[in-house]
Amino acid sequence: MFESLVSFVREQYKSNEFIPLHAPIFSANERDYVMDTIDSTFVSSVGAYVDRFEREMAAYVGSQRAVATVNGTAALHMALKLVGVLPGDLVITQPLTFVATCNAIAYCGAEPVFIDVDRTTLGLSPKALEQWLDEYAYIDADGACRTLADNKNVRACVPMHTFGHPADLDGLVDVCVRWNIALVEDAAESLGSLYRGRHTGTFGSVGVLSFNGNKIITTGGGGMILTDEVVGARAKHLTTTAKIPHPYEYVHDEIGYNYRLPNINAALGCAQLEALESFISAKRALAARYADYFNNSDLYFVREPEACKSNYWLNAVICQDRAQRDELLKTTNESGVMTRPIWALMNRLPFHHGARAGELPNAHWLEERVVNIPSSVIPDLCQ
Ligand SMILES: *Cc1c(COP(=O)(O)O)cnc(C)c1O
Repeated sequence: MFESLVSFVREQYKSNEFIPLHAPIFSANERDYVMDTIDSTFVSSVGAYVDRFEREMAAYVGSQRAVATVNGTAALHMALKLVGVLPGDLVITQPLTFVATCNAIAYCGAEPVFIDVDRTTLGLSPKALEQWLDEYAYIDADGACRTLADNKNVRACVPMHTFGHPADLDGLVDVCVRWNIALVEDAAESLGSLYRGRHTGTFGSVGVLSFNGNKIITTGGGGMILTDEVVGARAKHLTTTAKIPHPYEYVHDEIGYNYRLPNINAALGCAQLEALESFISAKRALAARYADYFNNSDLYFVREPEACKSNYWLNAVICQDRAQRDELLKTTNESGVMTRPIWALMNRLPFHHGARAGELPNAHWLEERVVNIPSSVIPDLCQ
Protein backbone atom coordinates (compact mmCIF):
# COMPACT_ATOMS: atom_id res chain seq x y z
CA MET A 1 0.00 0.00 0.00
CA PHE A 2 2.90 2.37 0.66
CA GLU A 3 4.93 1.30 -2.37
CA SER A 4 3.93 4.50 -4.15
CA LEU A 5 5.32 6.56 -1.27
CA VAL A 6 8.60 4.66 -1.56
CA SER A 7 8.75 5.51 -5.29
CA PHE A 8 7.79 9.12 -4.62
CA VAL A 9 10.61 9.55 -2.09
CA ARG A 10 13.09 7.85 -4.43
CA GLU A 11 12.09 10.23 -7.23
CA GLN A 12 12.72 13.26 -5.02
CA TYR A 13 16.17 12.07 -4.00
CA LYS A 14 16.86 10.55 -7.44
CA SER A 15 18.33 7.53 -5.71
CA ASN A 16 17.90 3.78 -5.56
CA GLU A 17 20.21 3.49 -2.58
CA PHE A 18 19.25 3.64 1.10
CA ILE A 19 17.54 6.97 1.86
CA PRO A 20 18.14 8.22 5.42
CA LEU A 21 15.74 10.36 7.44
CA HIS A 22 18.20 13.21 7.58
CA ALA A 23 21.79 13.61 6.37
CA PRO A 24 23.92 16.76 6.67
CA ILE A 25 25.09 18.53 3.53
CA PHE A 26 28.15 20.71 3.10
CA SER A 27 28.85 23.51 0.70
CA ALA A 28 32.14 25.11 -0.23
CA ASN A 29 33.34 26.91 2.87
CA GLU A 30 33.14 24.14 5.50
CA ARG A 31 36.42 22.63 4.32
CA ASP A 32 38.21 26.00 4.11
CA TYR A 33 37.15 27.18 7.56
CA VAL A 34 37.97 23.87 9.23
CA MET A 35 41.37 23.74 7.48
CA ASP A 36 41.96 27.28 8.68
CA THR A 37 41.61 26.17 12.33
CA ILE A 38 44.02 23.30 11.70
CA ASP A 39 46.57 25.51 9.93
CA SER A 40 46.40 28.04 12.76
CA THR A 41 46.48 25.31 15.48
CA PHE A 42 43.45 26.97 17.10
CA VAL A 43 41.16 23.94 17.00
CA SER A 44 40.13 23.89 20.64
CA SER A 45 38.79 26.14 23.36
CA VAL A 46 40.08 29.46 22.02
CA GLY A 47 39.62 30.94 18.58
CA ALA A 48 37.98 33.48 16.37
CA TYR A 49 35.35 31.16 14.85
CA VAL A 50 33.54 30.75 18.17
CA ASP A 51 33.11 34.54 18.53
CA ARG A 52 32.12 34.86 14.90
CA PHE A 53 29.61 31.98 15.07
CA GLU A 54 28.01 33.52 18.19
CA ARG A 55 27.88 37.01 16.68
CA GLU A 56 26.45 35.85 13.36
CA MET A 57 23.88 33.57 15.01
CA ALA A 58 22.70 36.36 17.34
CA ALA A 59 22.33 38.68 14.33
CA TYR A 60 20.50 36.02 12.31
CA VAL A 61 17.87 35.16 14.93
CA GLY A 62 17.72 38.68 16.35
CA SER A 63 18.74 37.97 19.93
CA GLN A 64 21.03 40.23 21.94
CA ARG A 65 23.46 37.46 22.72
CA ALA A 66 24.26 33.92 21.60
CA VAL A 67 26.62 31.65 23.54
CA ALA A 68 27.92 28.50 21.85
CA THR A 69 28.03 25.21 23.76
CA VAL A 70 29.36 21.72 23.22
CA ASN A 71 25.87 20.37 22.43
CA GLY A 72 22.21 21.26 22.73
CA THR A 73 21.69 19.27 25.91
CA ALA A 74 24.41 21.28 27.67
CA ALA A 75 22.76 24.48 26.41
CA LEU A 76 19.43 23.33 27.89
CA HIS A 77 21.08 22.43 31.19
CA MET A 78 22.64 25.90 31.37
CA ALA A 79 19.41 27.60 30.26
CA LEU A 80 17.58 26.10 33.22
CA LYS A 81 20.34 27.11 35.64
CA LEU A 82 20.34 30.63 34.17
CA VAL A 83 16.64 31.13 34.90
CA GLY A 84 17.23 29.95 38.46
CA VAL A 85 16.05 26.32 38.49
CA LEU A 86 17.18 24.75 41.77
CA PRO A 87 17.12 21.18 43.10
CA GLY A 88 13.58 20.26 44.14
CA ASP A 89 11.94 22.75 41.75
CA LEU A 90 9.34 21.76 39.18
CA VAL A 91 9.89 22.39 35.47
CA ILE A 92 6.98 22.05 33.07
CA THR A 93 7.52 20.46 29.67
CA GLN A 94 5.77 18.32 27.07
CA PRO A 95 5.84 14.50 27.11
CA LEU A 96 6.24 14.49 23.33
CA THR A 97 9.89 15.50 22.97
CA PHE A 98 13.40 14.14 22.58
CA VAL A 99 14.80 12.83 25.86
CA ALA A 100 17.39 15.66 26.10
CA THR A 101 14.73 18.14 27.24
CA CYS A 102 13.94 16.05 30.31
CA ASN A 103 17.53 15.04 30.96
CA ALA A 104 18.45 18.71 31.34
CA ILE A 105 15.69 19.09 33.94
CA ALA A 106 17.07 16.09 35.84
CA TYR A 107 20.65 17.47 35.70
CA CYS A 108 19.37 20.44 37.72
CA GLY A 109 17.90 18.12 40.35
CA ALA A 110 14.47 19.38 39.31
CA GLU A 111 11.34 17.39 38.59
CA PRO A 112 9.49 17.44 35.24
CA VAL A 113 5.76 18.08 34.98
CA PHE A 114 4.33 16.69 31.74
CA ILE A 115 1.63 18.80 30.10
CA ASP A 116 -0.24 17.92 26.91
CA VAL A 117 0.54 19.20 23.41
CA ASP A 118 -1.77 20.68 20.77
CA ARG A 119 -2.53 18.50 17.77
CA THR A 120 -2.07 21.42 15.39
CA THR A 121 1.42 22.46 16.53
CA LEU A 122 2.69 19.23 18.20
CA GLY A 123 3.98 21.69 20.85
CA LEU A 124 3.03 22.45 24.45
CA SER A 125 -0.60 23.52 24.79
CA PRO A 126 -1.13 26.87 26.58
CA LYS A 127 -4.66 25.77 27.45
CA ALA A 128 -3.55 22.49 29.04
CA LEU A 129 -0.80 24.43 30.86
CA GLU A 130 -3.25 26.94 32.29
CA GLN A 131 -5.65 24.16 33.31
CA TRP A 132 -2.94 22.34 35.25
CA LEU A 133 -1.80 25.54 36.97
CA ASP A 134 -5.39 26.48 37.88
CA GLU A 135 -5.88 23.13 39.51
CA TYR A 136 -2.52 22.51 41.19
CA ALA A 137 -0.72 25.82 41.69
CA TYR A 138 -0.98 29.26 43.29
CA ILE A 139 1.09 32.44 43.44
CA ASP A 140 2.63 33.04 46.86
CA ALA A 141 3.11 36.39 48.65
CA ASP A 142 6.49 36.88 46.92
CA GLY A 143 4.96 36.29 43.50
CA ALA A 144 6.45 32.79 43.07
CA CYS A 145 4.41 30.05 41.45
CA ARG A 146 4.03 27.10 43.85
CA THR A 147 2.13 23.83 44.04
CA LEU A 148 -0.88 23.74 46.38
CA ALA A 149 -0.17 20.19 47.55
CA ASP A 150 3.50 20.44 48.54
CA ASN A 151 4.57 24.04 48.01
CA LYS A 152 7.19 23.24 45.37
CA ASN A 153 8.39 26.12 43.22
CA VAL A 154 7.24 25.88 39.60
CA ARG A 155 10.25 27.67 38.20
CA ALA A 156 10.32 27.19 34.45
CA CYS A 157 8.37 26.00 31.45
CA VAL A 158 10.13 24.39 28.46
CA PRO A 159 8.03 24.08 25.30
CA MET A 160 9.66 22.37 22.32
CA HIS A 161 9.11 23.35 18.68
CA THR A 162 8.53 19.86 17.35
CA PHE A 163 10.17 19.03 13.99
CA GLY A 164 10.63 22.79 13.44
CA HIS A 165 6.96 23.81 13.83
CA PRO A 166 6.57 26.69 16.29
CA ALA A 167 4.44 26.06 19.37
CA ASP A 168 1.70 28.57 20.28
CA LEU A 169 4.14 31.17 21.61
CA ASP A 170 1.65 34.01 22.20
CA GLY A 171 -0.41 31.67 24.36
CA LEU A 172 2.59 30.28 26.23
CA VAL A 173 4.16 33.70 26.87
CA ASP A 174 0.82 34.92 28.23
CA VAL A 175 0.39 32.03 30.68
CA CYS A 176 4.03 32.13 31.81
CA VAL A 177 3.91 35.89 32.44
CA ARG A 178 0.69 35.66 34.45
CA TRP A 179 2.01 32.76 36.55
CA ASN A 180 5.51 34.17 36.88
CA ILE A 181 7.18 31.13 35.33
CA ALA A 182 10.37 31.51 33.27
CA LEU A 183 9.93 30.52 29.63
CA VAL A 184 12.82 28.51 28.14
CA GLU A 185 12.33 27.51 24.51
CA ASP A 186 13.79 24.23 23.33
CA ALA A 187 14.36 25.44 19.77
CA ALA A 188 16.83 22.64 19.01
CA GLU A 189 14.77 21.58 15.97
CA SER A 190 13.47 24.95 14.82
CA LEU A 191 16.45 27.12 13.87
CA GLY A 192 15.17 29.54 11.22
CA SER A 193 11.47 28.97 11.96
CA LEU A 194 9.40 32.11 12.47
CA TYR A 195 6.40 32.77 14.68
CA ARG A 196 4.61 35.96 13.59
CA GLY A 197 7.78 36.97 11.77
CA ARG A 198 10.09 36.51 14.73
CA HIS A 199 12.58 33.67 15.25
CA THR A 200 11.74 30.82 17.60
CA GLY A 201 14.18 30.76 20.50
CA THR A 202 13.82 34.52 21.10
CA PHE A 203 10.45 34.59 22.89
CA GLY A 204 11.44 33.35 26.35
CA SER A 205 14.10 34.37 28.86
CA VAL A 206 16.40 31.87 27.18
CA GLY A 207 16.23 29.82 23.96
CA VAL A 208 18.30 26.81 23.03
CA LEU A 209 19.58 25.51 19.67
CA SER A 210 21.31 22.27 18.67
CA PHE A 211 23.82 21.64 15.90
CA ASN A 212 23.93 17.89 16.21
CA GLY A 213 24.58 15.97 12.98
CA ASN A 214 20.87 15.42 12.32
CA LYS A 215 19.76 19.04 12.78
CA ILE A 216 19.17 21.61 10.01
CA ILE A 217 22.77 22.82 10.30
CA THR A 218 25.52 20.95 12.08
CA THR A 219 28.84 21.61 13.81
CA GLY A 220 29.41 17.88 14.32
CA GLY A 221 28.08 18.41 17.82
CA GLY A 222 27.14 21.75 19.29
CA GLY A 223 24.50 23.98 20.75
CA MET A 224 23.70 27.61 21.46
CA ILE A 225 22.11 29.64 24.24
CA LEU A 226 20.06 32.61 22.98
CA THR A 227 19.36 35.33 25.52
CA ASP A 228 19.89 38.98 26.50
CA GLU A 229 23.20 40.72 27.27
CA VAL A 230 23.09 40.24 31.04
CA VAL A 231 22.11 36.58 31.09
CA GLY A 232 24.41 36.01 28.09
CA ALA A 233 27.44 37.27 30.00
CA ARG A 234 26.58 34.92 32.83
CA ALA A 235 26.04 32.05 30.35
CA LYS A 236 29.52 32.60 28.90
CA HIS A 237 31.06 32.61 32.38
CA LEU A 238 29.24 29.48 33.51
CA THR A 239 30.00 27.48 30.33
CA THR A 240 33.72 28.33 30.40
CA THR A 241 34.64 27.05 33.89
CA ALA A 242 33.63 30.30 35.64
CA LYS A 243 37.12 31.75 35.24
CA ILE A 244 37.77 35.35 36.21
CA PRO A 245 39.55 37.02 33.27
CA HIS A 246 43.25 37.41 34.07
CA PRO A 247 46.37 37.34 31.88
CA TYR A 248 47.81 34.27 33.64
CA GLU A 249 46.23 33.46 37.02
CA TYR A 250 43.65 30.69 37.37
CA VAL A 251 40.87 32.06 39.53
CA HIS A 252 37.35 30.65 39.37
CA ASP A 253 34.53 32.21 41.37
CA GLU A 254 32.03 29.31 41.36
CA ILE A 255 31.61 25.77 40.07
CA GLY A 256 31.53 26.23 36.33
CA TYR A 257 31.15 23.88 33.40
CA ASN A 258 33.38 22.95 30.51
CA TYR A 259 30.56 23.32 28.02
CA ARG A 260 32.24 25.55 25.44
CA LEU A 261 32.15 24.74 21.74
CA PRO A 262 35.60 23.98 20.24
CA ASN A 263 36.78 26.40 17.56
CA ILE A 264 37.00 23.63 14.93
CA ASN A 265 33.29 22.93 15.41
CA ALA A 266 32.46 26.63 15.31
CA ALA A 267 34.31 26.88 11.97
CA LEU A 268 31.95 24.27 10.55
CA GLY A 269 29.07 26.23 12.07
CA CYS A 270 30.06 29.52 10.39
CA ALA A 271 30.04 27.86 6.96
CA GLN A 272 26.77 26.02 7.64
CA LEU A 273 25.09 29.22 8.83
CA GLU A 274 25.94 30.86 5.50
CA ALA A 275 23.95 28.08 3.79
CA LEU A 276 21.03 27.97 6.27
CA GLU A 277 18.55 30.07 4.30
CA SER A 278 19.14 27.98 1.17
CA PHE A 279 18.62 24.79 3.24
CA ILE A 280 15.33 26.19 4.55
CA SER A 281 14.11 26.99 1.05
CA ALA A 282 14.99 23.47 -0.09
CA LYS A 283 13.19 21.95 2.90
CA ARG A 284 10.11 24.06 2.30
CA ALA A 285 10.08 23.08 -1.37
CA LEU A 286 10.28 19.39 -0.44
CA ALA A 287 7.52 19.87 2.16
CA ALA A 288 5.30 21.45 -0.50
CA ARG A 289 5.82 18.40 -2.72
CA TYR A 290 4.98 16.05 0.16
CA ALA A 291 1.89 18.13 0.99
CA ASP A 292 0.71 17.74 -2.62
CA TYR A 293 1.44 14.04 -2.62
CA PHE A 294 -0.45 13.37 0.62
CA ASN A 295 -3.44 15.45 -0.49
CA ASN A 296 -4.72 12.35 -2.26
CA SER A 297 -4.13 9.96 0.62
CA ASP A 298 -5.62 9.17 4.01
CA LEU A 299 -2.44 10.27 5.76
CA TYR A 300 -2.32 13.81 7.09
CA PHE A 301 0.87 15.70 6.24
CA VAL A 302 1.94 17.94 9.14
CA ARG A 303 1.98 21.59 8.00
CA GLU A 304 3.27 24.77 9.55
CA PRO A 305 0.88 26.29 12.11
CA GLU A 306 -1.02 29.50 11.33
CA ALA A 307 1.06 32.72 11.29
CA CYS A 308 4.26 30.66 11.25
CA LYS A 309 7.01 29.93 8.77
CA SER A 310 8.48 26.52 9.64
CA ASN A 311 11.92 25.32 8.69
CA TYR A 312 10.34 21.87 8.02
CA TRP A 313 13.37 20.24 9.62
CA LEU A 314 11.71 16.83 9.77
CA ASN A 315 8.65 16.09 7.69
CA ALA A 316 5.94 14.10 9.40
CA VAL A 317 2.63 12.42 8.63
CA ILE A 318 -0.21 11.48 10.94
CA CYS A 319 -1.62 8.01 10.24
CA GLN A 320 -5.24 6.96 10.77
CA ASP A 321 -4.33 4.54 13.52
CA ARG A 322 -1.53 2.42 14.93
CA ALA A 323 -2.05 -0.42 12.45
CA GLN A 324 -1.56 1.94 9.52
CA ARG A 325 1.46 3.46 11.23
CA ASP A 326 3.02 0.01 11.66
CA GLU A 327 2.40 -0.85 8.02
CA LEU A 328 3.94 2.43 6.85
CA LEU A 329 7.03 1.88 9.00
CA LYS A 330 7.42 -1.72 7.81
CA THR A 331 6.98 -1.12 4.07
CA THR A 332 9.26 1.90 3.88
CA ASN A 333 12.06 0.60 6.09
CA GLU A 334 12.07 -2.77 4.31
CA SER A 335 12.40 -0.89 1.02
CA GLY A 336 15.43 1.10 2.14
CA VAL A 337 13.52 4.34 2.73
CA MET A 338 14.06 5.30 6.32
CA THR A 339 11.05 6.35 8.40
CA ARG A 340 10.72 6.54 12.18
CA PRO A 341 7.87 6.75 14.66
CA ILE A 342 7.70 9.79 16.92
CA TRP A 343 9.36 9.39 20.33
CA ALA A 344 7.77 7.29 23.05
CA LEU A 345 6.23 9.72 25.54
CA MET A 346 8.66 10.83 28.25
CA ASN A 347 6.27 9.90 31.06
CA ARG A 348 6.50 6.26 29.88
CA LEU A 349 10.26 6.07 30.44
CA PRO A 350 11.01 4.04 33.57
CA PHE A 351 12.96 6.87 35.26
CA HIS A 352 9.95 9.19 34.92
CA HIS A 353 7.37 6.73 36.25
CA GLY A 354 5.14 8.50 38.70
CA ALA A 355 6.14 11.96 37.40
CA ARG A 356 3.55 14.69 37.71
CA ALA A 357 1.44 15.09 34.60
CA GLY A 358 -1.77 16.63 33.35
CA GLU A 359 -4.23 14.79 31.14
CA LEU A 360 -2.37 13.79 27.97
CA PRO A 361 -4.97 12.83 25.34
CA ASN A 362 -3.28 14.57 22.39
CA ALA A 363 0.19 13.29 23.23
CA HIS A 364 -1.17 9.73 23.40
CA TRP A 365 -3.09 10.18 20.16
CA LEU A 366 -0.04 11.53 18.32
CA GLU A 367 2.33 8.94 19.81
CA GLU A 368 0.30 6.19 18.10
CA ARG A 369 0.18 7.89 14.71
CA VAL A 370 3.09 10.18 13.83
CA VAL A 371 5.82 8.99 11.47
CA ASN A 372 8.79 11.00 10.20
CA ILE A 373 9.70 10.64 6.54
CA PRO A 374 12.95 11.47 4.70
CA SER A 375 13.76 15.16 5.00
CA SER A 376 17.39 15.77 4.01
CA VAL A 377 18.05 18.88 1.99
CA ILE A 378 17.88 18.14 -1.75
CA PRO A 379 20.71 20.24 -3.26
CA ASP A 380 18.74 20.95 -6.47
CA LEU A 381 16.03 22.66 -4.44
CA CYS A 382 18.41 25.09 -2.72
CA GLN A 383 17.91 28.71 -3.69
C1 LIG B 1 18.53 17.59 19.21
C2 LIG B 1 17.70 18.00 20.35
C3 LIG B 1 18.26 18.50 21.54
C4 LIG B 1 19.72 18.67 21.78
O1 LIG B 1 20.45 17.58 21.41
P1 LIG B 1 22.04 17.55 21.36
O2 LIG B 1 22.28 16.26 20.63
O3 LIG B 1 22.50 17.50 22.78
O4 LIG B 1 22.58 18.72 20.63
C5 LIG B 1 17.39 18.93 22.52
N1 LIG B 1 16.07 18.87 22.38
C6 LIG B 1 15.50 18.41 21.25
C7 LIG B 1 14.02 18.41 21.15
C8 LIG B 1 16.28 17.95 20.20
O5 LIG B 1 15.69 17.48 19.09
